[in-house]
Amino acid sequence: MSYMPPNVLCVDVSSNGKLGPMPATYSASATCPNACPLKDEGCYAGAGFHTRQAWRRADGHGSQTNVRTWSDFLAWVSKLGRGLRWRHNTGGDLPGVRDRLDGLACIDLARAASGTDPIIFTHYPILPEDVRTPGVDAEETARHNRLTLRAMAFYGIAVNISANSPEHASRIRAAWPEFPVVMVADLAEGERHKLTLDNGDKADTCPATIAGSTTTCADCGLCAAAKAAKRKVSIIFPAHGTGAKKARVVIRRSATIA
Ligand code: SF4
Repeated sequence: MSYMPPNVLCVDVSSNGKLGPMPATYSASATCPNACPLKDEGCYAGAGFHTRQAWRRADGHGSQTNVRTWSDFLAWVSKLGRGLRWRHNTGGDLPGVRDRLDGLACIDLARAASGTDPIIFTHYPILPEDVRTPGVDAEETARHNRLTLRAMAFYGIAVNISANSPEHASRIRAAWPEFPVVMVADLAEGERHKLTLDNGDKADTCPATIAGSTTTCADCGLCAAAKAAKRKVSIIFPAHGTGAKKARVVIRRSATIA
């Protein structure tokens, strides 16, 4: 694939209260796959003021301080300390085009990040029915994405698959239980929910979303590579924040499509 991954905004210490103090990045919105039903329709990264501003910088608007080319980004990653927890793609996704991951770029990222403990989510489809790009071989695209994510896991970089609903999470886990899964769900915001998915798997709520919780990603790490690689329990994110209303519509639409 002749394609140069877009630029990445690299923040040395995030001030995002949910993340906690850790390095964080934003990838240009061109990285978002067609498969994501929240693309342009309520994505949290575009809904919050500060995250929206940061994400726009990755897209080339406003200050370009700390916005790095792909190769500079890899150099930045390779200097992160061993075992360091960091968040990749507070906005944006892994490098790829439409619904197909850029396998070589993803492996370069995994090699650079090997030994660190990144929190990464992806909406790139690993089920053929989730491929939404017209005219492509959906089976081959989903297989290619699974192979790419397996190659990243080989370097110790387990990536969370973002599901659009509990039902969607169940189908992904039933088909490919090696991949850790997170999901948005139309459940009451601020409460702890525990679910048994249709395939029998368990799901529990992200502790940082529970009202009154002081847990951050920095001290939880359930979605970070080291724990995600072994995690059997899927993580629930109740639709929340300023994008919640739109997100709920998309979740319901996604369930209808499935
Ligand atoms: S489950 Fe833990 S690591 Fe994952 S998003 Fe929530 S607080 Fe962060």
